[in-house]
Amino acid sequence: MSEILYNRVALIGLGLIAGSMSLAMRRAGVVGEITGYARSPETRDTAREINLVDRVCDTAADAVKDADLIVLAVPVGAMGAVMAEIAPALKAGALVTDVGSVKKSIFEAVTPLLPHDVSFVGTHPMAGTEHSGPRAGFAELFDGRWCLIVPPDSANEADVIALERFWRALGARTERMDMDHHDLVCAVVSHTPHLIAYTMVGVADDLSRVTDQEVIKFSAAGFRDFTRIAASDPTMWRDVFLENKDATLEILGRFTEELFALQRAIRQGDGEHLYDYFTRTRTIRRGIIEAGQDTDAPDFGRAKKTE
Ligand code: NAP
Repeated sequence: MSEILYNRVALIGLGLIAGSMSLAMRRAGVVGEITGYARSPETRDTAREINLVDRVCDTAADAVKDADLIVLAVPVGAMGAVMAEIAPALKAGALVTDVGSVKKSIFEAVTPLLPHDVSFVGTHPMAGTEHSGPRAGFAELFDGRWCLIVPPDSANEADVIALERFWRALGARTERMDMDHHDLVCAVVSHTPHLIAYTMVGVADDLSRVTDQEVIKFSAAGFRDFTRIAASDPTMWRDVFLENKDATLEILGRFTEELFALQRAIRQGDGEHLYDYFTRTRTIRRGIIEAGQDTDAPDFGRAKKTE
């Protein structure tokens, strides 16, 4: 028998991340009851139909009533409004967390609304797919992936330790990080790469009109990987860029400088520059595989949803 870590967990938002959390919580057997709420009746109906959580509630207040842990799993820009909605219904001693991809702006939106006897610690599971909605979740999503734990300075150490145990029970590895550092790291490893993928697919789409669909028809592996990333949820990613503006602009600036340097090397026929650059970047790919964060399988080693 697994130890129960929280008697009741409330999931606010029932999409890919919340759904995967629910299935992983059940697999681990570490939660007494899982309640859930999503704003649209359609999502709530689907969640009921597929038995995604133990109890789907028709209001956010109902879902969080008596919950020990409340997980905000909505787009980053919606966290503050959701917090305002649930605040009056939170029980004393509850812990609120979020799974948003940006940490500082969520902290600033959520914490002023917290009742004095409720705590907050942010988290960010570094795992996802390009799919969204209640049917997209799967229990293995977090297995072996990092979940960054981002406690504010005022956090209670016992809450942070409990959340670390919770995420490890869901299959993740955990590491603590401060929120500014989190937002910069994620701008490098996640946010800017998504923006580049969106741009490249946009360029190809423009070009496909010129080349009569050849870009789509003959798309090679590199482009197909871009299209997978560029298929990610538009609302989620709009919010990520609006809410992690400074770090993303900083990394985009550096990216543009590097791109100009490569452009110059191509124009000047500087093969040595290109070769050295690509040798350096290949080493990074090897490091990711050696760290167990991906495989060298041709499909990019992405975890597959088990039907
Ligand atoms: P998702 O599958 O699109 O689900 C989003 C959920 O939020 C849905 O239940 C949706 O409700 C609800 N929602 C959307 N807009 C809302 C609003 N304005 N107010 C209240 N609820 C709203 O998204 P997800 O991929 O699970 O992402 C959830 C959070 O996890 C985001 O903050 C994201 O940054 C973070 N995250 C995502 C990934 C990833 O790869 N997907 C990875 C790590 C972290 P309805 O269905 O009723 O519209």
